[in-house]
Amino acid sequence: MFRTIFFVCLSLCVALAKHEQYEGAAVYDVTVTTKEQAQLVNQLENEIFVDVLSHAIPGRTGQVLVPKEQREQFQNELSNSGIEFEIVTENVVEQLQLEDELLAAASKKSNRSASRIGLSFDTIHRYSVVDQYLVDLAEAYPDIVTVVSGGESFEGRDIKYLKISTTNFQDRSKPIVYIQSLLHAREWITLPATLYAIEKLVIDVVEQDLQQDIDWIIVPIANPDGYEFSHTNTRFWRKNRATGYSVGNTCIGVDLNRNFDILWGTASSNSACSETFHGRGPASEPEIVALQNILGEDVNRVELVLDVHSYGSLILYGWGTGQLPPNGLIINYVGVIMAQAIDRVKWPTNINYIVGNSFQVLYGSSGSTADYGLAIGSPLSYTYELPAYRNSGGLNGFLVDPDFIEQAGFETWEGIKEGARFARDNFRRRQGH
Ligand SMILES: [Zn+2]
Repeated sequence: MFRTIFFVCLSLCVALAKHEQYEGAAVYDVTVTTKEQAQLVNQLENEIFVDVLSHAIPGRTGQVLVPKEQREQFQNELSNSGIEFEIVTENVVEQLQLEDELLAAASKKSNRSASRIGLSFDTIHRYSVVDQYLVDLAEAYPDIVTVVSGGESFEGRDIKYLKISTTNFQDRSKPIVYIQSLLHAREWITLPATLYAIEKLVIDVVEQDLQQDIDWIIVPIANPDGYEFSHTNTRFWRKNRATGYSVGNTCIGVDLNRNFDILWGTASSNSACSETFHGRGPASEPEIVALQNILGEDVNRVELVLDVHSYGSLILYGWGTGQLPPNGLIINYVGVIMAQAIDRVKWPTNINYIVGNSFQVLYGSSGSTADYGLAIGSPLSYTYELPAYRNSGGLNGFLVDPDFIEQAGFETWEGIKEGARFARDNFRRRQGH
């Protein structure tokens, strides 16, 4: 009897302790009517260290996670500027516990048999599981899959990626499509998007042309340290886990999507405590060195770059300065056809995607993957912001309801396919055949 009580407490107390840091924190829906108001909300991120989970833009509500101590100030700032807000999650800890329970229950009843290769789409797999899966897949499909280590993260985790090709990357008439996910640690729902693409290109191939005509590079976990930390410690962790940026390491981590060697430091934060801290220099972080090397491997053939994030239902392209690339019309067009392909099959309660230049739609940024893609000459380079999937239990934003995992993979794949086929045809046209 005592033992039972002890164990119940043990598991319960660990769960409580894990999310303790969010005690009293709340998530607010924020509605802005002008660009100025949107900018003001974004600025609060660095002024009072609230955490903007998704950015408010006129016509689309944003969400902000506010720690207990900042709630009063946050509400006052918004009220003073005439910005509407509403508390959407009063008890964040309860939500985090619910997510833990749902994901744990889903993985327990996971029905994929052990004999079949492939990862299930009913839970969010941890780093070690995905890492092993990539190795197993390359072993099982040696003719089309190669697993490569791109380098090590700050804490020494391998950044593995897959090269998928029916011609071992030797046919120079094929374009390369590059996809990465989990550059931002907490964006768990982005992992099923790349895993689903891998499944459809290797294991369950129904559209042969995609496998035959294109060489694929897929990096499922671009920020492994941050990702693991978001599982073990801090659910809303975004950056990598680099230390040495502040006295006593009071603030840890670099925003990897501000650290690429493109316009570095021009629209990002130089404060180590900021969620958009850009690091000590262009590509100062080992994760970015690895990703830049992967992108640079066969740079002339990279035709499409997709960096998958969440959330907001957006497809964005550069430049982060607001300037448009010379092929602005085409890049917008391809963004639109990808968005429409997703919208056609999206969860009915979700909103339609918005497509546009990242600066025009959201805010200025520098050192991002999407801009780096353009900089290395890929004509089509995008940031996907996958939707926040709401369910009746109220799980929202970054928190993942297991019911939506396969859907996230499935619907995003519809967009990827559209972009990849355009990229293939575009590459052939550019090559003159
Ligand atoms: Zn992100």
